Amino acid sequence: MSTLQLHDVSMAYLSKHEATLALESISLTVQDGEFLSILGPSGCGKTTLLSIIAGLLSPTSGHVTIGNQDLKQTKANIGYMLQQDYLFPWRTIQDNITLGQKIRGTYSQTAKNEALKWLDQLGLADKKNLYPNQLSGGMRQRVALVRMLATNPTLMLLDEPFSALDYQTKLKLEDLVFQTLKSEEKTAILVTHDIGEAIAMSDRVVLLSPRPGRIHRIFEIPTEIAST
Ligand code: ADP
Ligand code: ADP
Repeated sequence: MSTLQLHDVSMAYLSKHEATLALESISLTVQDGEFLSILGPSGCGKTTLLSIIAGLLSPTSGHVTIGNQDLKQTKANIGYMLQQDYLFPWRTIQDNITLGQKIRGTYSQTAKNEALKWLDQLGLADKKNLYPNQLSGGMRQRVALVRMLATNPTLMLLDEPFSALDYQTKLKLEDLVFQTLKSEEKTAILVTHDIGEAIAMSDRVVLLSPRPGRIHRIFEIPTEIAST
């Protein structure tokens, strides 16, 4: 990956009678290998911002670049874990996590084993032959995380990835995911409204104001805090 930059990004949703300004003048640089959290109240545009970075939404004004290339031209592998898990109900857990690899043409025995290792680390090894409706919400969320990790993205976009987990599991996974991705020098952007999660998971925290989301403050998290 290379540096991700948002240049004066604004987003208004237009409907018949009104425009909802969701984001206003967001300029931000995310360095290679950085973990950034986006924190803010409900409705301040966090999901909108991730969708723009993912290239799923075009901003009303401004633009996004990766290594000085426009987002539309980039070949960077961007992984997006949406708030809802969108697992395929008629596929087993194992098929769900390898499907992304197959679609991207990166499927191999090694890639599959890597995915199964993640499944194991997240405590789901014995669930691989079950179907999504046989799992709890928290388990499905972890499967969605593994499915994204299995495509080996260089930039990961995570929208409240741990919201359905119980407290203990959440702490364990925050730590595991943070340590592993850090050691692999991945870049990640995490959206959350949990300040503890933001601090535990990131190098920097961007605090957005209530709608329309603007950058209110940016905090650096000292490494001795982030790694404990
Ligand atoms: P900043 O003010 O944040 O440095 P600019 O808006 O001046 O960013 O643009 C930076 C670079 O991106 C310039 O080289 C510019 O030509 C290019 N650029 C600007 N708008 C677009 C766009 N919509 N699509 C692609 N590239 C653009
Ligand atoms: P957050 O993720 O911080 O809760 P969102 O990005 O989901 O915020 O939404 C920001 C604002 O934009 C909210 O006021 C929301 O109601 C509005 N919004 C989101 N998606 C749409 C849409 N597709 N059409 C119209 N308004 C939308």
